[in-house]
Amino acid sequence: MSALMPTYAPADLAFVKGEGVYLYTADGRRFLDFCAGIAVSCMGHAHPHLVEALKSQAEKLWHVSNLYVIPGQIELAERLAAASFADRVFFSNSGAEALEGSFKIARKYQQDNGHPERFRVIGCESAFHGRTLATIAAGGQEKHLEGFGPVVDGFDQVAFGNLNEMRAAITDETAAILVEPVQGEGGLRVASVEYLQGLRAVCDEFGLLLMFDEVQCGMGRTGKLFAHEWADVIPDVVAVAKGIGGGFPLGAILTTEAASVLRVGNHGTTYGGNPLAMAVGGAVLDELLKDGFFDHVASIGEKLTAGLDGLVRKFPSVFVESRGKGLMQGIKLTDRIVNRDFKADLEDAGLLIAPAGDNVLRLLPPLIIDESHVAEAIQKFKTVAERHVSAQIKES
Ligand SMILES: *Cc1c(COP(=O)(O)O)cnc(C)c1O
Repeated sequence: MSALMPTYAPADLAFVKGEGVYLYTADGRRFLDFCAGIAVSCMGHAHPHLVEALKSQAEKLWHVSNLYVIPGQIELAERLAAASFADRVFFSNSGAEALEGSFKIARKYQQDNGHPERFRVIGCESAFHGRTLATIAAGGQEKHLEGFGPVVDGFDQVAFGNLNEMRAAITDETAAILVEPVQGEGGLRVASVEYLQGLRAVCDEFGLLLMFDEVQCGMGRTGKLFAHEWADVIPDVVAVAKGIGGGFPLGAILTTEAASVLRVGNHGTTYGGNPLAMAVGGAVLDELLKDGFFDHVASIGEKLTAGLDGLVRKFPSVFVESRGKGLMQGIKLTDRIVNRDFKADLEDAGLLIAPAGDNVLRLLPPLIIDESHVAEAIQKFKTVAERHVSAQIKES
């Protein structure tokens, strides 16, 4: 038995090297990585520009604390603000930390505007916001809450995509609405343009903050810097992490000026936004904001969708449907196959993907993939699907 806490049941795979879209084990086996550290390694592995940024910063200064000016923070905040709806940015280390800060912003915003009684956040069923006490309360999923009661007060859930239910759930105590524009862990559900616009209207009507969790769907993954941009909606608060650091732990809270309510002493973090993180985050943004990069993500995303749709048509006893946006895609299995089993079969065939809720297989490749990688992934899916079909025929 290992000294490691058994919080995960990992695949029997340990990688020693990554290069672009591929990972390698010590014995030289090569895997096409369509998991990308769960939407983290957006520039693939060992990207030269990111490696250079990390190395050159590592030789200068790693960490100093937010007790001192960190010029890289000011620069990266300004670049993120210039590229998005945001006026202000707070840097954290993770998605959950960005969301915790967002909840504090929601409460303080209402307090500052004369409504201390408003503290509740309404979110959605099958959401995922992290594993801290408040973020498991916000996600509302029994499998994450069980054993950790009492549940942190102040979080409600309604059906994802249902504006009427959302309106009906608003009370005198509601402070904010929190939605993932594309649900990731929950099973790759894409919010409609009308839904996101409707949420904005509801928040305006009731004086609530509109908060998006773009930890997974943000930073270019859907073919725009942020997924909410497809709906032309201006949020008040957006939580970011995963892709923003390209593999270096980094998160951020982005807000409008009006929602920027945290003042000296209200909030803090030891590591958040340290010089190393800022160097790598800046390098990721250099690549993301290159001319045509988002168009590349959108067009290669369409090729991936077409490939997955082809699988659904060809193997109706294996796949139910494909769904997602850009390079955040899922394919749902029929209830004859468990997604974790199929995931293991894909691993044997040399393809890495992530499972998701609702018996979905999640594809989150690095944003730098090209058509050949899509073709290779689809081919591996076909090989595994054919094997399942043969097994089904034998059974019947
Ligand atoms: C991963 C994720 C989080 C939590 O991020 P951590 O960095 O693991 O704390 C929150 N929200 C969404 C949508 C995520 O995908």
